[in-house]
Amino acid sequence: MNLLPEKTVERLSQYRRMLLKHYCKEKQFIFSHELAALLHFTPVQVRRDLMLIGCSGSQRKGYDIKNLIKLMGEIIDSKYGQNVALIGVGNLGRAIMRYLNKKNSNLKIVAAFDINPDKINKELGGVNCHHSDELSEVLKKENITIGIICVPAEQALQVADSLVKSGVKGILNFTTATLNFGDDVFLEEYDMITSLEKVAYFSKKR
Ligand code: ATP
Repeated sequence: MNLLPEKTVERLSQYRRMLLKHYCKEKQFIFSHELAALLHFTPVQVRRDLMLIGCSGSQRKGYDIKNLIKLMGEIIDSKYGQNVALIGVGNLGRAIMRYLNKKNSNLKIVAAFDINPDKINKELGGVNCHHSDELSEVLKKENITIGIICVPAEQALQVADSLVKSGVKGILNFTTATLNFGDDVFLEEYDMITSLEKVAYFSKKR
């Protein structure tokens, strides 16, 4: 299968979560318009996404939910799960580790890194914190392919470079620094301040 568009992958993750939450045990089939309504998408959008992953529903019954969940898992997840590292165990970093590791997903934060001596070799947010000097060694040992950056913005580029040199293939950047890599690394930026300022702007106009 060709690489799916980013927005499709985002929606597949949303579909799967919604199906697991509301429908798994209650009913066996779902129509595209029902799934669309739950997520405020259009039925056409849902059908197009599901067609892209090779899933066709029956006109009479809709889509088989278990089948959908299984297929989406095969597309989004890795067979043996993926290990994640978090760099910068401040307030945000600790909150993210607690939140994500509680979810019991296929993705697990297995190592954390910081430079503050008070945090090294301690369990913070449920994960052992290593010194950043050990990044490359630990990443290889733990087979970590994804990094989450939660350091102060001015440190982000240097941290991202170390992650890439250590073989990481995907980065989620929680800082306001703008990073840039070639096609070898997939980068997702989550700028909370911009999101909040957007909400603030539009809330003022209501
Ligand atoms: P705290 O008060 O616990 O340090 P904070 O949320 O106020 O938390 P920030 O200044 O946002 O801390 O920094 C986030 C974390 O990133 C801190 O734990 C800091 O020690 C760590 N950090 C800063 N620079 C680096 C770096 N180059 N590599 C790894 N961690 C770093």
